[in-house]
Parts: sequence; structure tokens; C-alpha cells
Amino acid sequence: TAFTSPPIEELLLSNIELAGYTRPTPVQKYSIPIVVGGRDLMACAQTGSGKTGGFLFPILSQAYTQGPAGPQQETSVNNFVRTRKAFPTSLILAPTRELVSQIYDEARKFAYRSWVRPCVVYGGADIGSQLRLIERGCDLLVATPGRLVDLLERGRISLSSIKFLILDEADRMLDMGFEPQIRRIVEGEDMPTVKDRQTLMFSATFPRDIQMLARDFLKDYIFLSV
Ligand code: AMP
Repeated sequence: TAFTSPPIEELLLSNIELAGYTRPTPVQKYSIPIVVGGRDLMACAQTGSGKTGGFLFPILSQAYTQGPAGPQQETSVNNFVRTRKAFPTSLILAPTRELVSQIYDEARKFAYRSWVRPCVVYGGADIGSQLRLIERGCDLLVATPGRLVDLLERGRISLSSIKFLILDEADRMLDMGFEPQIRRIVEGEDMPTVKDRQTLMFSATFPRDIQMLARDFLKDYIFLSV
């Protein structure tokens, strides 16, 4: 398929086929090589453009090629049993319960038969059941900002192993007043510095406050508008 340039890992490719996708959407076509190439990305793309695959595919492809990371190269389940903490290697922040649930469903579809355990947390729901989900393994965490801050303060999640940080619908997150929580997460001492992680930001619009976030959170980024 057209998902083979640059090459996407075999298992992921077969999961993409299972989902019935035959060719990348424009945002996927441009974002996959940028992310695989290790660059930070600021993408202006609408919902419906396929932007979720635009960040999930390169992240999962790299994860499958490299195998489990984090402290002592353990699987996230063993790691949690030992430390009582989750050490996700990818974090996706999005504004609403609906959106994080949608991203989580996509992640599960494409992580099928792999070692990667996707996880989702959002506000306004029982935190106990979300903690039990985290306990079963948490490599790729999809979260709304407020609930993640809560879990960080409870000491149940460490961001120290993050390799990929994604801010999805960044303009909506700012409109909803999440900037303090986002800064607490991204600028917290637990989070690897901008040099030690890869950061991708997606937004429908690129107003001044989003430009500021891009300046603060991304390094030498590629700007993509589709
Ligand atoms: P998104 O913009 O990521 O929310 O995706 C919008 C819709 O397009 C979702 O229902 C996806 O499942 C679907 N989609 C994403 N990428 C592709 C693709 N390459 N081929 C066909 N459908 C896709």
C-alpha cells in the first residue's frame, strides 16, 4: 500500500489494512515522514482529516521496531507492579472526553497484537476504574489535562519516560481554559525537556496564543498546513 513510503512496521501495516485504510490521507502522507525523521511538528489540520493516524502511525511504528522502553526495559505491567506507578512513553493531550475516547479507540485498533498498552483518562468519571486500567499497562496515555494533573499529584503516573508528546486540538484546549494545566504537565520537572522528547502539536487554527505554545513546547519544528 501507499503506507510503505517511508516504511511502516509490518504489524502496524497489517492493523492498518484490517481497519480498511488503503492509502494515507494528506495529513498522514506529510506527517509520517516528518515524525519518523525525528522532527517536531506543528500541524494545522481539521477533525476528519485523519490527523489521529498522522500521529499514531509513526509513534506505533517506532514503538514496534524498538520494543518496550522505560525503566529497565520492562513491560508496563511489570513496571507498575514493581513501582505502583505508570511510566507511559507516549502522551496525547486532548480537550474532551469524546475526543480522548475516540483517540483511545483508534490506538487500540492499531496497537492490536502488539506489546503497546493504550490507556485513557478523563475528568468527570470515576478515577478508581481509570487507575485499574492504568494498572493493566499504560504505554500510550490519552488524557484530558485536568485529570492527568490529578493523577500526577496522586503520584500514580510518571512522565519521566515520555518520548512522544502530542497536543491535539490545541486551540480548543486553550479555549476551554486548560493552559495552566497544560503548562503544569509540559513544563513540570517530571517531563523530559524539549530536547529529550519529540513534540507534535495539532490545531485547527494558528492564532497568537498557539504560536506562543509552539515556541515554548516545540524545537526547530516543521509547520504543516493541510
Ligand atoms: P480523524 O481526523 O483522525 O478524526 O479521522 C477522521 C476519520 O477518518 C476517522 O473515522 C478515521 O477512522 C478515518 N480515517 C483516518 N485515516 C484514514 C485513511 N488513511 N483511510 C481511510 N479512513 C481514514
